[in-house]
Amino acid sequence: MIDRFGRSITYLRLSVTELCNLRCRYCMPEEGVCKKEHSSMLTQEETLMAVRAAASLGIRKVRVTGGEPLVKPNIVSICKGISETEGIEELCLTTNGIRLPELGRDLKKAGVERLNISLDTLDAEKYRYITRNGDLQDAVKGIRAALDCGFEKIKINAVLIGGFNDDEIPELAGLTEKYPVDMRFIEMMPMMDRELFGEGAFIPYSTVLEKLPELEPVPSDGGVAKLYRLPGALGNIGLISPISAHFCAECNRLRLTADGKIRPCLHKCDEYPIKGLDYDGMREQFIAAINGKPQWHGELSYTARSSAGRSMNRIGG
Ligand code: SAM
Ligand code: SF4
Repeated sequence: MIDRFGRSITYLRLSVTELCNLRCRYCMPEEGVCKKEHSSMLTQEETLMAVRAAASLGIRKVRVTGGEPLVKPNIVSICKGISETEGIEELCLTTNGIRLPELGRDLKKAGVERLNISLDTLDAEKYRYITRNGDLQDAVKGIRAALDCGFEKIKINAVLIGGFNDDEIPELAGLTEKYPVDMRFIEMMPMMDRELFGEGAFIPYSTVLEKLPELEPVPSDGGVAKLYRLPGALGNIGLISPISAHFCAECNRLRLTADGKIRPCLHKCDEYPIKGLDYDGMREQFIAAINGKPQWHGELSYTARSSAGRSMNRIGG
């Protein structure tokens, strides 16, 4: 479907849970989320019905996310259902990687084609700090498992945080010289209510270009990242700039939260509920959400925080 601003909406980011086995400081409150009534979350049947309704309106790509999608007990079965949905051409998943050694093979069999794995630092102490309890080795084992399972075009995502991991930009980028993976640096979005990081914590994508003058531009693959490559590397460096150069004019996405709210824009609190609706009702809500998609997300900075009204784990990053 085409929205009011001529954008073709083909991409659904589907959150399957708000829960997570980590507590990244930029994403989630320390205490986690208060576990909601099971009955307020979408069932597997409703989730797959929503994907069918979205596919009937032109959604072709689904990215499963969360929270941490791999803590969802029926994640393999959900993925299989999505990949078998008529009209869905591409199924990807974003994860912190920790459960990939157990689930990687089954996810691949279920039709997940590509994985994005989050890793903000290569330092064990810093990893523990930023995730509030995580073990770096678990994430590294997850990335190894993804490679062993034969996933191609794996993307490693790091949120850029000034004073935390900007000194590691060359080392993180260097992963693309050792492994067939893309490394992506993402500008931190001001989602959380509390000021967790000082103003200097925001660093623009251009810092990566300053730190790595040897980067060579690569033609775009149609995604939101600006692409570069280190000479002779096996994978690309992607720079994602939601703050310093927003990509609203090309935004082709909708989000569906685990509690069944369609969100036309990550940084707006408008929601179109579908919990409890039948197929036709869900389809109508998708149409309304596409028609309600704003032209852009409005000003975002450390003084103009996101109007999302939910932390990232509760929307689906
Ligand atoms: N748990 C999975 C993971 O960490 O990959 C999937 C969900 S997580 C919310 C999806 C992505 O959103 C991660 O790459 C994470 O780093 C990113 N993210 C979370 N909060 C963010 C923020 N405030 N700014 C930028 N990216 C953020
Ligand atoms: Fe969990 Fe992912 Fe959020 Fe980290 S970024 S707390 S891994 S949902």
